[in-house]
This record gives sequence, C-alpha cells and structure tokens, in this order.
Amino acid sequence: MSSSDKTYPVQKTDAEWREQLDPMQYQVARHAATERAFTGKYWDHWQSGEYKCVGCGTRLFEADTKFDAGCGWPSYWAPVNSEVIERVVDKSHGMVRVEVRCNNCGSHLGHVFPDGPQPTGERFCINSAAIDFAPDSDSKP
Ligand SMILES: [Zn+2]
Repeated sequence: MSSSDKTYPVQKTDAEWREQLDPMQYQVARHAATERAFTGKYWDHWQSGEYKCVGCGTRLFEADTKFDAGCGWPSYWAPVNSEVIERVVDKSHGMVRVEVRCNNCGSHLGHVFPDGPQPTGERFCINSAAIDFAPDSDSKP
C-alpha cells in the first residue's frame, strides 16, 4: 500500500486485520490488491440497499448510485457523502490514478475515474471484496 501520513480513527494491527477478514478481503483492503474482473460478489448485484466498508462497517455507497460500467467491478457514481471516502493519488503500475480508501479505517476500496455518468461524472470502481452489502430492510443509522 502506498504511504499515507493519515491516522485513521480505526487502528488495527496486521494480525487483527488477518483475523477479521477472509484472505481475499485482506489482500484487497489492506494491500490494495485488485480482484479479477467479473469474479467478485457484487459486480452484477442489483438489490436495493447499501454497501458498507468490510473493515469497519461504515456506510459507503447506496444501491441507488450503482450502475453497470461493464468493467466487471461494482461501480458507483457517488459515495453516500464525500467524508466517508479518502482520495489518494496512486502512481503504481505506471499509471496515475486516484485511489479511494475508507476514511475511517484506511481500507483500500478501489479507484475513481472521471468517466462516470451524470450528475457527478465520476466512476467509483470498487472491489467487491472491500465492501459488504446490507439490504434495505435494515434500519439505517
Ligand atoms: Zn472502513
């Protein structure tokens, strides 16, 4: 994971993260791995509800903002609000991209690209392994 000076409200040791997450979730959320396209749980998942951070349970995205970008990963045009997401410039793999992380626990979520639909024009390309779906019937905090 690229370095960040930020201190997140949720701090856990590497051992604690390994314990909490399954191996794929751990690799994605804590080591910025990317799941293979069309292999995750949520790229073709259209139930209404919300998607939470796999690391800390923070509500990140709503089903209302999810759209089919045809890329094989869950895609959203906006997070629930701008505070839940941290944006970090990522220069790995010879590209300059904007990484998105959970602002509460620092888990890697995916990347944001400027080619999404209106009203934001943004496309949040998120790994299924970094999020947990909760159907609408759940009471919202
Ligand atoms: Zn989190």
